[in-house]
Amino acid sequence: MNQKHYQQIPAKLTEGLDRLSRWQPYSPGMCNGCLSYCCHLPVEATAEDMVRLGLAEEGEYRASPKRLFKKLLAQKVVSSFRMKSGLFTIAQKSDGSCGFLGADRRCTVYEKRPAVCRRFPEIGPRPGFCPARKFSPSPSV
Ligand code: SF4
Repeated sequence: MNQKHYQQIPAKLTEGLDRLSRWQPYSPGMCNGCLSYCCHLPVEATAEDMVRLGLAEEGEYRASPKRLFKKLLAQKVVSSFRMKSGLFTIAQKSDGSCGFLGADRRCTVYEKRPAVCRRFPEIGPRPGFCPARKFSPSPSV
């Protein structure tokens, strides 16, 4: 998608993305032309993901999970961390999109993206379902 054609998804289209009952069964091809609605869902990442992303050193999490969280928080890469599960939540932009989503609506870290992104929608809040269809904008968007 050309940068000059970029438009933020209107807020009304991303409202209720978390209502799982409105998700559609996923089928190949649904991603074509989609404005990356799944990248407007909270993304949980592991310490392993952070190492792959180049945001943490091997062993940094083991040495001190809290210190790593503080570092990533200061870098505005993550917004929260749950000690019990060891999962970080990737920081979202003001429109709710993932901090790694580019202006062209493509992932800027695609080759290194978190495991959950690689496996979506096989895993996720509603496995096998996708939030895109019912929120598809008009062709003019
Ligand atoms: S890391 Fe990339 S694929 Fe995953 S939600 Fe963010 S922009 Fe989308």
